[in-house]
Amino acid sequence: MMTKGNTPMRLSRYFLPVLKETPAEAQIASHRLMLRAGMIKQSSAGIYSWLPLGFKVLRKLENIVHQEQIRAGHNPMLMPTLQSADLWRESGRYDDYGEEMLRITDRHGRDLLYGPTNEELITDIFRSHVGSYKDLPLTLYHIQWKFRDEIRPRFGVMRGREFYMKDGYNFDLTREDALHAYNRHLVSYLRTYERMGLQAIPMRAESGPIGGDDTHEFLVLADTGESEVFYDSEITDLRFGDREIDYDDADQCRAVMEEFTSRYARTDDTHDEAVFHERVPEERRRQGRGIEVGQIFYFGTKYSEPMGATVQDRDGNTVPVHMGSHGIGVSRLVGAIIEASHDDRGIIWPEGVTPFHVGIVNLKSGDAEADAACESLYASLEALGLEPLYDDTDERAGAKFATMDLIGLPWRITVGPRGLKNGVVELTSRRSGESEELPPEQAIEKIAKIYESHRTGGVFG
Ligand code: ATP
Ligand code: MG
Repeated sequence: MMTKGNTPMRLSRYFLPVLKETPAEAQIASHRLMLRAGMIKQSSAGIYSWLPLGFKVLRKLENIVHQEQIRAGHNPMLMPTLQSADLWRESGRYDDYGEEMLRITDRHGRDLLYGPTNEELITDIFRSHVGSYKDLPLTLYHIQWKFRDEIRPRFGVMRGREFYMKDGYNFDLTREDALHAYNRHLVSYLRTYERMGLQAIPMRAESGPIGGDDTHEFLVLADTGESEVFYDSEITDLRFGDREIDYDDADQCRAVMEEFTSRYARTDDTHDEAVFHERVPEERRRQGRGIEVGQIFYFGTKYSEPMGATVQDRDGNTVPVHMGSHGIGVSRLVGAIIEASHDDRGIIWPEGVTPFHVGIVNLKSGDAEADAACESLYASLEALGLEPLYDDTDERAGAKFATMDLIGLPWRITVGPRGLKNGVVELTSRRSGESEELPPEQAIEKIAKIYESHRTGGVFG
């Protein structure tokens, strides 16, 4: 069965502008590899075009984020990139936000801004339409481009000026309900990152301009990360795995939150050397670097109070709602995954996010038997709802392998006249480098089995 949105591809018809040379401006592996693999092209400082391969990965991540948010009971929607300055004057942040905010004036002289985040806009939507505790709890989210005029955009999509972010906002009657929403987000984020093949550790953090006291950042450990982190090594053994969770059950969500946040793990903003030493035995103390791929906040009535986002409670009193906001850096994640998973030949995509499930390399394009075998593999994989990338060009074998290694598909099937004489093709793992020869049907079966647990369906499927 074809799954909606699947796009198998022939390399001869694909736009994959791989670079032979290592671009001089790229300082870290993910930036280098994204440029070399033809995933992105810089358009101006911190602003990128997403070329087909990069766009495909971005969409896969977005798809996972949507699915996990919907699973947690959150409502997808879409807000615009441009926002009215007046809303930000109401919260007081128009002046506070500073130079990172890109301010724009339209032809009528009205002040607009390119949204760096959406607390004001969502609070305005909420106050226009919700007036009763009966409509709570409510969580709304979207995935939309953001703009922050970062003083030093760098590392490609890791610190862009324009970047793609999932941001979600919960509205609750009480602090207790809002903390349930906080925990629910924490759980859904753990699931999200694990599906992407990543370990992202929740660490106690500072809230910055979003505000509030309760906040955790999710960090992927990597030497090239911009955050300094301190943690108990035991935390790296934790996995959410495939356990079932009832997101409406506050106790269940709290238990997971406690499990994942009880051990010492902090960024340098909140790190306390004395507490670190007191709570963690020396042999488990770790200091390193991490990439922030998400953050969750509980900030109470910080926005609802000044902006009049109130509901009537059970006793008929008008009360401001308790809120939190929750962000995942979708475009940064593309870079973070590569930082966590590459070697000197290129990217190694985790199965859950790979742009194509398997590469097919035809060692002798033009050879009738090899061509027919490749076509048949391609059709069978497509029929199973998988997305092969078939290198049907007449490049040399060595160049074909180098491209496949660079773009990092986790599995490769190599087809050549010599193997076909014995009825076999070669199946190679990008990660381990191991190959085995087996009949084409068995190679397909194996690939199908590998991806069984990584089927995502359509965006909202
Ligand atoms: P940072 O400390 O890295 O500047 P932040 O804490 O200001 O990020 P948040 O407001 O928490 O960012 O945004 C949510 C997520 O969006 C972050 O966890 C990060 O993954 C992503 N993000 C933030 N700024 C950028 C950026 N300039 N480029 C790419 N992704 C970003
Ligand atoms: Mg943050």
